[in-house]
Amino acid sequence: MPSSALVIDDDSDVQLLGKMLLCKHGYNVVTAGSLGELARQPALLEAELIVLDFGLGEFTGLDILDYLYDLRLNAAILLLSSCSEETADHAIATGKARSLRMLGFLPKSQLLTHLTPFLEQLKATPKAPTCDELATAISAKQLCLAFQPKKDLQNGQVTGVEALVRWEDPKRGMLYPDTFIPLAEKSGLMGPLTWCILELAFEQQEKWQALGWNLQVAINVPAAFLQSEHMLEKFDKLTQHRKSALPYLTLELTESVGVECLGYARHILEALRQRGCKLALDDFGTGYSSLIQLHRLPFNELKIDRSFVSHIDQDSRALAITLSVVDLGKQLGMTVVAEGIENAAQQTLLVEAGCPAGQGYYISRPLTAQAFNRWMKEALEQPTLRKEPEERVH
Ligand code: C2E
Ligand code: MG
Ligand code: MG
Repeated sequence: MPSSALVIDDDSDVQLLGKMLLCKHGYNVVTAGSLGELARQPALLEAELIVLDFGLGEFTGLDILDYLYDLRLNAAILLLSSCSEETADHAIATGKARSLRMLGFLPKSQLLTHLTPFLEQLKATPKAPTCDELATAISAKQLCLAFQPKKDLQNGQVTGVEALVRWEDPKRGMLYPDTFIPLAEKSGLMGPLTWCILELAFEQQEKWQALGWNLQVAINVPAAFLQSEHMLEKFDKLTQHRKSALPYLTLELTESVGVECLGYARHILEALRQRGCKLALDDFGTGYSSLIQLHRLPFNELKIDRSFVSHIDQDSRALAITLSVVDLGKQLGMTVVAEGIENAAQQTLLVEAGCPAGQGYYISRPLTAQAFNRWMKEALEQPTLRKEPEERVH
């Protein structure tokens, strides 16, 4: 099947030139001249490659990247512009930070002569996964979990793990959440994905209980999952023989939970707490209505985002924010977890500030279940041990 491309440029000359060159390389090409045109004809965006002019009428390149991000696009994006290298570098970094697949920057003056290397680069990279492939992966149980330990910072003991999803794709190898969570969100697959993760987490928890390890297992739960049809009924069905495991299950939610329907979210979260589950507010400080969620929703745990924690040894403002959140969590009677501890200096600052718990590469990277078991055995022999095993999955 021929590949498809979309050229977005308000200059019809560039549109025609781009179309001609891409057709020569075997692409089916469509063009658009404005964001309005894309909004009216969203099917245009179903392309594998988007050649994007970095400035459309009143919109800047960053507006356009935001628009593409909001649509959770999987297409590779090639910036085509007369802007400076510096502006282009900034745009590419911004796009990557939003998980867009940025192919690179092609100055407009080089369109005729330098397009081919980008197309070859694109051909050499495996195609981004599609919704159908993800749906198959979920039902074929190609998903697996990596486990990152959470540690009590005051006594050094391992208290639990965060389960992080991975996709073992037979064609592409191990895929990380940033490559398929946006796809799952866009295609309504967050529900099936999360049910599958919950089941995998319970299976692992049972294995650990058989070893005598009562570890708190945390899974990440998107707001869409809480809103999935018959959510509580399905949860009860899945957990009917696992009631004793529920107090060892933590559901990590981000600040987006309850933004749209606070009353509904509160109802569901309270029902989950009544069943024994713990609730954590993840990535605290990165969303936009954190204090409302803290005030109105029944969380047990507060996770300070790593964008603060990973800088506390270098940046006094990051340290001030982190310490205030530790204090805030304590005042609210919550367990505070600092995520993203990357070195000894950061851990020492947190221990001294009385931060109850921590997680991060310094303690351990996410590990396969097998590697975690070895790590845990060593940690039990020597509770303050921080050495990492060789077998890593992240
Ligand atoms: P998160 O829930 O905040 O998970 C922590 C992420 O931070 C993980 O990345 C972990 O590998 C990374 N991390 C942990 N310690 C450090 C550190 O010291 N430094 C740095 N730089 N990073 C650290 P991962 O596994 O790639 O997951 C990224 C995000 O994807 C997660 O952020 C979560 O939002 C989402 N995600 C992961 N697994 C799942 C899942 O099972 N379901 C859902 N819905 N989302 C998931
Ligand atoms: Mg999390
Ligand atoms: Mg987090």
